[in-house]
Amino acid sequence: MEDELAISVRGLRKAYRETVAVAGVDLDVRRGEVFALLGPNGAGKTTTVEILEGYRKRDAGEVSVLGSDPAAPAADWRSRVGIVLQGTGEFDELTVSEVVRHFAGFYADADDPDKVIARVGLADKAKARTHALSGGQKRRLDVALGIVGRPELLFLDEPTTGFDPEARREFWELIRDLAAAGTTILLTTHYLDEAEALADRVGVIADGRLVEVAAPGRLGNRHEALATVSWRTPEGVVESAESATPTALVAELATRFGGEVPGLTVTRPTLEDVYLRMIGHT
Ligand code: ATP
Repeated sequence: MEDELAISVRGLRKAYRETVAVAGVDLDVRRGEVFALLGPNGAGKTTTVEILEGYRKRDAGEVSVLGSDPAAPAADWRSRVGIVLQGTGEFDELTVSEVVRHFAGFYADADDPDKVIARVGLADKAKARTHALSGGQKRRLDVALGIVGRPELLFLDEPTTGFDPEARREFWELIRDLAAAGTTILLTTHYLDEAEALADRVGVIADGRLVEVAAPGRLGNRHEALATVSWRTPEGVVESAESATPTALVAELATRFGGEVPGLTVTRPTLEDVYLRMIGHT
């Protein structure tokens, strides 16, 4: 069982003086899984991820990441974990190609730098100095540096913040490719559509506690939620009803209206609806 888990956390706690950032988190991430941590500002996501990355000490709890305690990892552990850091300011004067090559040199079994550059969509910027990249291009470079060592497990903290819509879609494709190749991915995000598009499972964290873990379609029992059917009466008033059998209700309305139902909509709670309800309850 242990071997099937890339990450296993029990009773994780961390406080900064009187601020409790992580208040007892239990979390399992399976090997090969894409797991998204969602939560409002200050919920404890970054603190949790930094502890898993070995960058922050915990106060209490058991943590295993690829079979090691990140606070005292095995010798080869760092090379098996990919971390996407924000910003590589110290390499401003180097080109994209030079920076990626430099990082590839840290790993015994690094990927081909040119291939990695192409994969993150920076092939036409390979010879550009990094200070001349746009914000979104810099984030792609950060991702290139996180994956050039061919990590088994990749941490991505808010990876698409600042991306334009097209860059986000391209980034999602990259994440899907990595996942298809067997990389385990733990990402934090504020974008519910991103969690829904990428994650096998989503963990909602609020006030330092994991409120729920589920597949995006099942969060908050969304898959069992009633549908809301609404329509417009001949007087122009919008009416709506909740129903477990919306098809039957629509058929009934069609009979009542003798054909087309004016202003007909059928909706179920979105991931955002259940998420907001969930964090509002905590
Ligand atoms: P965001 O979505 O805003 O990035 P987050 O979920 O990542 O938030 P954390 O950064 O883990 O949340 O912060 C959790 C809590 O711990 C917050 O109340 C924050 O103010 C506090 N905190 C985080 N880092 C420190 C620090 N270095 N010193 C003191 N308090 C901190």
